[in-house]
Amino acid sequence: MPAPSRILLSPPDVGPLEREALLRAFDSGWIAPVGPEIGAFEEEIAARLGGEVEVAALQSGSAALLLALRLLGVGRGDRVLVPSLTFVASANAVLQLGAEPVFLDSEDDTWNVDPGALAEALDHGGDFRAVITVDLYGQCADYDRLLPLCRERGIPVVQDAAEALGAFHQGEPAGLQGDLAVFSFNGNKITTTAGGGALVSRNGDWIRRARKWATQAREPAAHYQHEEMGYNFRLSNLLAALGRAQLARLDDMIAARRDHRRAYGQALADLPGLSPMPEGVTGTPNFWLTALLLDPREAAASPEEVRQALEREDIETRPLWKPLHLQPLFAGAECRGGAVCERVFARGLCLPSGSAMTADDRDRVIAALRRVLEG
Ligand SMILES: *Cc1c(COP(=O)(O)O)cnc(C)c1O
Repeated sequence: MPAPSRILLSPPDVGPLEREALLRAFDSGWIAPVGPEIGAFEEEIAARLGGEVEVAALQSGSAALLLALRLLGVGRGDRVLVPSLTFVASANAVLQLGAEPVFLDSEDDTWNVDPGALAEALDHGGDFRAVITVDLYGQCADYDRLLPLCRERGIPVVQDAAEALGAFHQGEPAGLQGDLAVFSFNGNKITTTAGGGALVSRNGDWIRRARKWATQAREPAAHYQHEEMGYNFRLSNLLAALGRAQLARLDDMIAARRDHRRAYGQALADLPGLSPMPEGVTGTPNFWLTALLLDPREAAASPEEVRQALEREDIETRPLWKPLHLQPLFAGAECRGGAVCERVFARGLCLPSGSAMTADDRDRVIAALRRVLEG
């Protein structure tokens, strides 16, 4: 029998449809960051969100975050609130503009930013130019509680929905809650363009401005005329074609990941000290990654012991995002609270969740987890 192949956390799920789309774009001759696939991709993302938004397709979610903050006027000396439990890109955009991130703790119910910590910071923490929320692992933050706090004070919200394409908040597509929202199409996200991202807003003027900045802020003149600083951030036409093929399969990919979540939950429910990530408090997630918490008083192994045991069987698992206030990059940065995100990080583990993972591979993961956690 051949050795079983490695099971990855969240590899790209691409096949003949994506190949065809790429070749269609290639054969059209539009091998550039301009071409018909880009506009079509933007329209299809907008349609997926219900049609009331404008979309700019970009080279990354990180680029989208940078443009979002710049649109809000974030610059040198400004302070921006950011959840601590997130990927570093959420806060790097703040640094890139010369501003300062101030970190917020998570709440247990969603692992997303704690509305209580946000209220406390807004009331007693000084002035803030913007708030970044993150929809962690494909589950929306508690916008019913977060948004009124920001609106009352006139502070704009950038929704980092990089991990949450296809999720819902109380029946409304993720990406419509913030004043601006960001998606990522990186290789490990629920849909991929190899690398890519999108900036979304109901404010079409903002998105048109972002598109201009993303093409070196070129003015509409035949010669190269520039009045503002720009970037080379536009998505390529080839990758937009790939993104369209992925978007057409998004519902199936969410269904596959939901199935993994359910199967892990059922197969591991009896293990001592193990609890699933919270779910469904704010709407329907897209099930991007399934994660577990291991209670050190009851579980037979620590998350790191489980990770190493599965690694020996060629199965990739990962800790949760390390809270940013614990990262050397942000040493000295302010953090309001932090106990919840530190605890979740210490106990959590993300499991293989890719939409192309077969039921047999999932059974292999479950068997390996049971071996190490049955004690
Ligand atoms: C992936 C990710 C990003 C960055 O997106 P890229 O496309 O990789 O630049 C930002 N925020 C979060 C929460 C992410 O998971």
